Formats: sequence, C-alpha cells, structure tokens
Amino acid sequence: MKRVLYAAAEGLPYIKSGGLADVIGSLPQCIDHKKYKIAVVLPLYKKIMDKFELEKVGDFPVQSGLINKTAGLYKDSSTGVDYYFIRQDDYFNRDGMYGFADDGERFAFYCKAVLEMLKQLPMKIDIIHTHDWHTGMIPILAKKEYTDKGYTRIKHVFTIHNLAFQGNFPRELMNCFNLDSKYFDNGDLKFDNGMSFMKAAILYADKITTVSNSYAGEILSPEFGERLNETLSYRKDDLWGIVNGIDTDNWNPETDKCLHANYSLRSISGKKKNKLDLQRRLGLREDENVLLMGMVSRLTWQKGASLLIEKMNTIMGQDVQLIILGTGDNYIENQLKRIEYDYPHRAVFYCGYDEALSHSIYAGVDLFLMPSLFEPCGISQLISMRYGTLPLVREVGGLRDTVVPYNEYTKQGTGFTFKNFSGDDFIYMIKYAIEVFYFRKDDWKRMVRNAMKEDVSWLKSALLYDQLYSSL
Ligand code: ADP
Repeated sequence: MKRVLYAAAEGLPYIKSGGLADVIGSLPQCIDHKKYKIAVVLPLYKKIMDKFELEKVGDFPVQSGLINKTAGLYKDSSTGVDYYFIRQDDYFNRDGMYGFADDGERFAFYCKAVLEMLKQLPMKIDIIHTHDWHTGMIPILAKKEYTDKGYTRIKHVFTIHNLAFQGNFPRELMNCFNLDSKYFDNGDLKFDNGMSFMKAAILYADKITTVSNSYAGEILSPEFGERLNETLSYRKDDLWGIVNGIDTDNWNPETDKCLHANYSLRSISGKKKNKLDLQRRLGLREDENVLLMGMVSRLTWQKGASLLIEKMNTIMGQDVQLIILGTGDNYIENQLKRIEYDYPHRAVFYCGYDEALSHSIYAGVDLFLMPSLFEPCGISQLISMRYGTLPLVREVGGLRDTVVPYNEYTKQGTGFTFKNFSGDDFIYMIKYAIEVFYFRKDDWKRMVRNAMKEDVSWLKSALLYDQLYSSL
C-alpha cells in the first residue's frame, strides 16, 4: 500500500476560501483506501483552533535559514482520513489565511515544517501531493535540501488549482531556505528579479496536474499561461488535466440541512419552495414564476465581474430577479452595493462569505451565472447542476469541460454557454436563457433533469489520480 500525504493551505470541513478547500475536503475520501493510505496536512489557523478540538501529537523544531522556530503537530481523524495541522502561532494564529505582508515567510515555514513533520508520523510517506503555490517549495526542498534517502525517495505530485496565484517574492526570501543559491542563479527559482514558489513546483514535482483538461491545454499558451507557459510547456509530458468533482454527500439537495425544503429528481417541486423562501428572506418580491438568477463567488475580475457590472442595467431591464453572494475586490463590491437601490425587491447583493446562504442560493435560484475570464475548473457550476439550477457559463477551462450547452434541436444540454469574453455575448446568452425559461418550459425542465443526472462526483477523477499515483 502506498502512503500519500496531501499538503495544502485550506481544506474543508476546517477552513475554506474557495474551491481548493472543497477539493482537499473531498478528494482524499474518494481515493481507493485499499491501495492508498491518505493523510492531509494544513496550517493551524486561528479559525480552526477556535472551532475544532484537535489531538496534540507533539512538537518539533523547524530550522532553515532565517527561520528557527518550534512547530506543534495536531491531528483530527473524525472524518475517516487523518488530518494533521501545523501550529506556529506567530504565523497562523491570525484572523484570515492569506494576504499578509509576510506570506512568503509564513509559507516558506509551512513547506519546511511539512517535511520536518514526516519524522513525527507513524508511517513512511511515499508520495507528497502538494496543492497550489503555498506548498510549491516542498518538491525542491525534499530533493535538493534534504540529502537523506528517506526524503529523496519520495515522489511528488503538484496540482495547480489557479495559476494566477504564484507565490512570487523578492530574492531575499531565499534566505528562508538552506538551498544552494545555484537554484536561483540557474533560473529554476527565478521569476522576474525574485523567486517563485509556483515555478519551483512546476520544475521539481514528478508529475503536475491541473483541475481540468481544457485548463491543462490553455495554460501552455501566453493568453492563460500567466508568464509560466514556457516553463509549463517544458514539462508538458508530465502535465495531466483531471477535472474536479464535488462531495455529493455534502452537496445533496435530498438531505441538505441548510435547505428550507429538501428535494430530488423525483420530487423536484420542492425546489420552488426554496425559491419562495429565499425571495422572502432576502426581501425580493415573492414570485415562483419569475426567472431568479444567482451568483456565489469571490468577487474578482477572474470571475467576470466586469461583464456583470457593464451589463447590469440591461440584465435588470428584463423580467428577472438577481441574487449575488460574494466578497472580494472593493471596487466590485461598491458597484454591486448599488443594485438594491437601483432595483428594489428585484436584486440583492449580500456582501460577505456565508456557507449556509450559499446552499440556499444554489437550491433556490433557476439560473447560475459564471461569466469567468478564466476558470481552472470551477466548483460552483457543478454544485448548481446537482441542485437543478442551470449554469450560464463562459466556454473556458473547466466550465467548458463540465457544462453541456443547450441545443434547441436535440434538446440536450445542462446549461447555457457563450464563447467570447464580451458583454454583448454575455447578454445575448442571458436573453436566450430568459426566452427558454419563459417560452420553452418543457425544454427548461428537461435540462434541469439532465443537469441533476450529471455525474459530478469524484468517481471518475479519483480513478485518474489512482492511475497517476501508480505511474510514479
Ligand atoms: P474559486 O476556487 O476560484 O473561488 P470555485 O468555483 O472553484 O472558485 O469554488 C468556489 C467555492 O467557494 C464554491 O464552493 C462556492 O460556493 C464557494 N464560495 C465562493 N464565495 C462564497 C461566498 N461568498 N460565500 C459562500 N461560499 C462561497
């Protein structure tokens, strides 16, 4: 049996800011446990300490370059998989996860601590599966800073959940590691004049994956490659695209405790009750027949906020209602704050992060908007389909791989898609969806059923990870 350690910066049920946490919370449970023993490690943030009772395993020193600190190791096995947590209060006992001036030092420490922690574990690790830039230095450290065989025999898989976040820092951050400076001078770690965690991972992991097939192809091009396309092209034979699934137990309209009324394919009328409840709770005019559109998202330019803002008047000029739940960029938040005044009882912007409300929105709305500029995979469109809410998405990355466009002739489809990142294409597709909703009701119902039947679980993708681990 191979033993795999997942290292990441967030994971459910402990802490979440985006899709990465969904993956870290659900994929480990779906890997074949007869072939692989999986453990996960996360930083111990304040929010986790406040909410969860963890078992203390021990303390260990982490020493590297400028860093000389003690780390605490904690554990929780209540989900059936061992989740480990690295405690270092100077770095992680804060409100929030990222966005601090010392993020480079914090995650340099975390990478080192994950490797030091291996000595504390009751089992030998065969594969470390790192996720996103926060853990990107682990493969090179294990291969080049540690000469001990226990480390050099470990294989490394690195998954890119979003290439736009790269962990690029000034050169001085090299001082946090005991790595020979030749790895900077030869260009491996160098990015502009500083160093890049993401680049290090791309070059030193044995296999690289990203979270959809389309995105795996897109990031080799200058348009989506975030200036790492050449580095990725160099590794393209080791780059796999494996689409994300979702935790279909947690995201299940039949049992979801956050819902006003549970429903399923067989009792789909329950969905309408959620719609009315949502309209009432958020102060919208209660009307089960109006097209209710929704969005649950980080509010960034990646998510297509510019298209939404540009076309807000035209959208709200139609017979529709709109609910947006999200937080992020200040400018976008301020623009969206106006919609409640501009369109009273027809549009709501809930500024913040609210897990329970997100469930109610996925269940209550008819159409879910995701006009992303780029989208490595996207989790929200998968959840929407599971809840019988049709996604309207841009044909990019994982959105293209997971949403089947409506075909008015064959009646196939699980949602609506448009190609170009333009306000006009976006609004064209919204108007088309509105027409289908009001005038081709049977087609709409059929699509809802198609969407709910779609397999959005981890089943197929977990098998691909299985193949990937076996290939190492
Ligand atoms: P990303 O990881 O780029 O943010 P994804 O679509 O992959 O986008 O995943 C986003 C996840 O975060 C989804 O599960 C979505 O429901 C959740 N989410 C995003 N914003 C919020 C919010 N404001 N409140 C609750 N959940 C949110």
